[in-house]
Amino acid sequence: MQSLKGKTALVTGSTSGIGLGMALELAKQGANIVLNGFGDAEPARRQIAELGVAAHYHPADMSKPGEIADLMAYAAREAGGVDVLVNNAGIQHVASVEDFPPERWDAVIAINLSASFHTIRLAVPDMRARNWGRIINIASVHGLVGSVQKSAYVAAKHGLVGLTKVVALELAQTGVTCNAICPGWVRTPLVEKQIEARAQAGGLSLAQAQVDLLSEKQPSRDFVTPEQLGQLAVFLCSPAASQIRGAAWNVDGGWVAQ
Ligand code: NAD
Repeated sequence: MQSLKGKTALVTGSTSGIGLGMALELAKQGANIVLNGFGDAEPARRQIAELGVAAHYHPADMSKPGEIADLMAYAAREAGGVDVLVNNAGIQHVASVEDFPPERWDAVIAINLSASFHTIRLAVPDMRARNWGRIINIASVHGLVGSVQKSAYVAAKHGLVGLTKVVALELAQTGVTCNAICPGWVRTPLVEKQIEARAQAGGLSLAQAQVDLLSEKQPSRDFVTPEQLGQLAVFLCSPAASQIRGAAWNVDGGWVAQ
C-alpha cells in the first residue's frame, strides 16, 4: 500500500542529488511531487511521472523571497497545496573566514537558511487548517558540529536546526511535525566539487581524494545515499513518527558520534 497517496510533496532543489532522491522515494509512496531547482528539470520530471504520480516543476530561485512566494502559489494552484515540505536546496562555499567573499556568505545564508523560513511561513497556514503536515529540513552534520572553511554553511545549517526546533514547538499541538535530517557525506554534485578541489590541492587522484575525504570525518568510510535519506523522509511522514518533533536526525556513518 502507498502511504502518501493523494498527498503533495514539494521538494526544493530536486533536479539532482539528495532532493531528487527524496522526491523519488516520496513518489514511490504515491505522493504527487512539485520539483524545483536549476538546470534541465525534464529528466527528473520524467523519472517522477514514470512512477504514476503528478510531476510538477517550478524554477524559483530559492535565494529570492518573491520567487519563493510564486513557487508556493504555483503549488497551491497546480497541486492543491503542500502536505509535505522538504527544504533541501543548498549550496556550499569553501574558504577561510577572513577570505570568505561577503556575497557568497549572503548567498549561502539566503538559500540554505532563509529560503526555509519563507517556505515554512507560507506553507504552515494550510497545514494548520488541514491539521496535517510534514516539514522536513535537510540540514547536515554541519548543523550539529563545525568544520574549517565552512563558516557560512555551518552557520546556516545550525540556524536551520534552530528554526526546526522553534517551528516544531509552535506546532506541537497540531498534526504538523517539523524535523531536520542531518546527513554526512552523500556523493552528489555538491560533494563531487569538493572531491575535485581536494584532488587538485593535494596532487591526488580522484579516487585517493575520495578516500581522503571519507576517512577524515566519516567512520563508516562509505557514502550515505539519497535513497536512504528519502526512505527516512517517508518514515517521518508516517503515523509512527507523529511524535517525532524538533529532532535533528543524523545519518552520517558515525560522523557526530566521535
Ligand atoms: P546538489 O548540488 O546535488 O543539489 C542541490 C540542488 O539545489 C540542485 O537541484 C540545485 O539546482 C538546487 N539549487 C541550488 N541553488 C538553488 C537556488 N538558488 N534555487 C533553487 N534551487 C537551487 O546538492 P546535494 O548534495 O544534493 O545537496 C542537497 C542538500 O543536502 C543541501 O541543502 C546540502 O547542504 C545538503 N547536504 C548535502 C550533503 C552531501 O554530502 N551531499 C551532506 C549534508 C547535507
